[in-house]
Amino acid sequence: MVEKKTGTGRERIYLSSPHMSEEGYEKQYIKEAFDTNWIAPVGENVDGFEKELAAMVGSKAAAALSTGTAAIHLALKAAGVGSGDIVFCPTLTFSATANPIIYQNATPVFIDSDYETWNMCPQALEAAFLKYPDVKAVIVVHLYGLSADMDPILEICQKHGVPVIEDAAESLGTYYKGKHTGTFGDYGVFSFNGNKIITTSGGGMLVSDHEEKIEKVRFWATQSRDKARHYQHSELGFNYRMSNVLAGIGRGQLKVLDQRVAKKKAIFEFYQRELCGLEGVQFMPVNDWNEPNYWLSCMTVNGRIRPVELLEALEKENIESRPLWKPMHLQPFFEAYDYVGTDVTERLFENGVCLPSDTKMKEEDLIRVVETIKKLW
Ligand SMILES: *Cc1c(COP(=O)(O)O)cnc(C)c1O
Repeated sequence: MVEKKTGTGRERIYLSSPHMSEEGYEKQYIKEAFDTNWIAPVGENVDGFEKELAAMVGSKAAAALSTGTAAIHLALKAAGVGSGDIVFCPTLTFSATANPIIYQNATPVFIDSDYETWNMCPQALEAAFLKYPDVKAVIVVHLYGLSADMDPILEICQKHGVPVIEDAAESLGTYYKGKHTGTFGDYGVFSFNGNKIITTSGGGMLVSDHEEKIEKVRFWATQSRDKARHYQHSELGFNYRMSNVLAGIGRGQLKVLDQRVAKKKAIFEFYQRELCGLEGVQFMPVNDWNEPNYWLSCMTVNGRIRPVELLEALEKENIESRPLWKPMHLQPFFEAYDYVGTDVTERLFENGVCLPSDTKMKEEDLIRVVETIKKLW
């Protein structure tokens, strides 16, 4: 992964790359998997990872799956979403939030964000309920480790008796009013993809207090094999379980999650301190009811300097940065689906930048980033 250029101080700075523990916890769990020959999507690490993560976030049960996308897919299925059903989905998100709606032959309706949270706007959600009262499920996302404002969102969904799925893929370690994101809705989804705050190289987790639903998800994820000596199937199956080797990486990574959050927060505070005085710069909203994991440090740039100039200047210095997610209602694949809202996410996409937030960055790397940016002003 490490890409070096000639000269010093030019090593690539990443947005967010895998960061294994200095203590080597992950290797210890992998070694156990090898020593016991549980090189399979079943074993002690899978069970242990599920229990440890569920305990950490405060959920009754968890199912370790191959990806966060698979977890969203099976959450929709567990919530009873099927052919022709409508599902509300934030427009400002990664496509992996919306794709599983299509896997279930259901129909997404995209919902706007608000500037106060960058996440789902409760007023837009309310308006969507008026237009589609028979909606089957609502997906809420906690982008960049910022939590959505769950209280008004849950109130609206509970009033209509509609299940909530939280896509907390980017928000492991984030708290809303003292409670872990991913545990407010009926289902919560975490991702351990290589760019997330902790990683198993690839992986996901579905958490819920509905223990019987998590049992069912494990069943679907192992090809829906009925209890019989021969191979017997009464339902459609999926091959979505997490490998016992990768679950070992996850158990080790869980031990350093607090360290990672602390570092991500320090990165955000450094950027904020150094850059907040630049004309037109505004950082992502951190509300007093929210303790983010600061997965990515993001800001908007409004004025003389355009975000694209900033992205290009950083790339020239071998520093990775990105625009914010492009809204789903602007994506060629999804543009035929309905959208409820105004232009909040369009503005955020136009003006937003994700700064390098890699926890392996040293102080000199952070200085390199801010110096490159300051030169533009
Ligand atoms: C990463 C991500 C996912 C998908 O997780 P995978 O494990 O990569 O499948 C879903 N939603 C959001 C918001 C994400 O950032």
